[in-house]
Amino acid sequence: MTSTTTPPASRFNSVYIGLGAALVILAIVILSGIITTKRLGNAVQLQARTNDVRLNVESATANVRAAESAIRGFVAAGDSHFLDEFDGARDSLQLVLHGIRRLTTDNVSQQQRLSRLDDDVRVRFAYLDSTKALRIAGATAEAAGAIRLGSESLVRERIYQTLGEIESNAQQLLTARTASVAAEIRRSKWINLAGVLASAVLVLLSVIMFRSEATRRRRAKQRLESSEERLRDFLDSASDLIQSSNADGNLIYVNRSLLNTLGYTSDEVIGRSSEMFFAPECVADGRVLFERLLQGEHVTDIDTIYVRKDGRRVNVAGSSNCRFEDGRPVATRTILRDATRQREVDQMKDEFVSIVSHELRTPLTSIRGALGLLANGMLGEVGDRGKRMLDVAISNTDRLVRLINDILDVERIESGSVPMSRQRIRLSEIERHVDGLMRPLAERANVNLSIATGDIDLNADEDRIVQMLTNLISNAIKFSPPGTTVSVTAAREGEDVHLRIVDEGRGIPADMLETVFARFQQVDASDAREKGGSGLGLAISRGIVEQHGGRIWVESELDRGSTFHVLLPALPELAIPSPLILGDIASSEGPLVLVCDDDADVRTV
Ligand code: ADP
Repeated sequence: MTSTTTPPASRFNSVYIGLGAALVILAIVILSGIITTKRLGNAVQLQARTNDVRLNVESATANVRAAESAIRGFVAAGDSHFLDEFDGARDSLQLVLHGIRRLTTDNVSQQQRLSRLDDDVRVRFAYLDSTKALRIAGATAEAAGAIRLGSESLVRERIYQTLGEIESNAQQLLTARTASVAAEIRRSKWINLAGVLASAVLVLLSVIMFRSEATRRRRAKQRLESSEERLRDFLDSASDLIQSSNADGNLIYVNRSLLNTLGYTSDEVIGRSSEMFFAPECVADGRVLFERLLQGEHVTDIDTIYVRKDGRRVNVAGSSNCRFEDGRPVATRTILRDATRQREVDQMKDEFVSIVSHELRTPLTSIRGALGLLANGMLGEVGDRGKRMLDVAISNTDRLVRLINDILDVERIESGSVPMSRQRIRLSEIERHVDGLMRPLAERANVNLSIATGDIDLNADEDRIVQMLTNLISNAIKFSPPGTTVSVTAAREGEDVHLRIVDEGRGIPADMLETVFARFQQVDASDAREKGGSGLGLAISRGIVEQHGGRIWVESELDRGSTFHVLLPALPELAIPSPLILGDIASSEGPLVLVCDDDADVRTV
């Protein structure tokens, strides 16, 4: 199943990018707001200053007029309070002009006009002072004439004209600055509006993305929960017994089958040590198993006994491993099956095979003995045809006896019911024994046999080692073409002795290298018929080697030959005591034979 949704990380990033952009835009808007406010403040200040200039000009004009009218009053009436008005108007004019000068320091043209005005005002007031002096001196007619003359003078004209120019310039500036203030206000409004809109859109987008992210997370959580539910349901409905423990060995999950099998409820087991399931004698094995899991091993050979809540015992078998995170163990996963029934069936089968085999072996032994006596003519002469028939009967009886012995061997060796009677044995002794047994077979098959094992001591059951070697060597001879060589060598490798049985025969296919060691397994179904085997020899050999704590395996190449490897624990070199001679028991009258069997027929034969 594929998904086309945006990956969560990039979706989350775009939310942050949106929010970041909104913040940047807001910052720009705030900054431009500050700049615009500052510019607006400047513009308003300029506007106020220009207005002040305009008002001062009006005041200056009024003061000039007041001074002139005061002089005219004084000349006409001779009243001295006109002189006070004149002085007041003059002082006020000076102040106003100083104010205009201060307000227009950055305006060159206004400053030029002002200095022209200063000169003219000085000349005009000097003239008014002289008119005033004429009147004070009593020359009223001359003073009146001076007033008339002065009112038409060029200087007076220029003063009013300059004041008009200054005012008109201030008016123009005022108009321009008022417009600039208005423009500034408009721009600031637009910037604010655009910024607020952009931020609002981005914040809105971020909110939408946040919400969709939250929805996506909620859905993902729901999906995870439902998938966990499905998985739990799946595990619970499995017939296998499934359990999981944390790194401390405490149970964190037990499926329904296991709970049902052991008769517990989930609450009774979760959080408790998994050792609670083991039968007392298996707890130690359970601990070893847990250690192996913590070492990272995938354990596939679990075969142990659990105890039900009601005390009944349950055989379980299966596999387990441990999940690691950052190299640390997190949880074990164990899948088992209830092997109790299987174990009972196996036991019944083994018992059946053992009983049948025992029951068959006894009569077969007497049949073989009787046939032998007949064939040797000890019970009277037998004709040639009769001898041939007896040979066929003997060889088939031998085959049956071998098969039954093999079945009994494999059962007993694999179940461990026959303890290996281990003692110090020397390979060279075994070599002689095996050579004696195998050489006739090799000669009949026209195969060269070379056994060279040397003097290595083993702690082993001699008969079983001979049995294992004869199995391997007879196979090697059986599956080798005439003219080829079968060789047996041995070498010490550390604590072990490594035996190699090498042939140049037909070889074993790669996919059968392990299966040939199982019971009744043969590479070719016709081997039993043509080569006279039962498919049990290698199973017995493996059983013997493993009972000695060793290992057996085969390497092979088709049509080139096979090498069977056997590793057995060696012993340090030691002189072997000379064998016991029972000469004093033997009598000169003939061989002494001990007949020992619980079956009368067998004893008679
Ligand atoms: P068998 O009595 O049939 O020899 P074994 O268990 O000894 O039973 O051997 C099982 C099968 O393994 C044989 O039937 C044969 O197919 C194969 N096998 C064993 N040894 C050899 C060998 N040296 N070369 C080729 N095949 C072999």
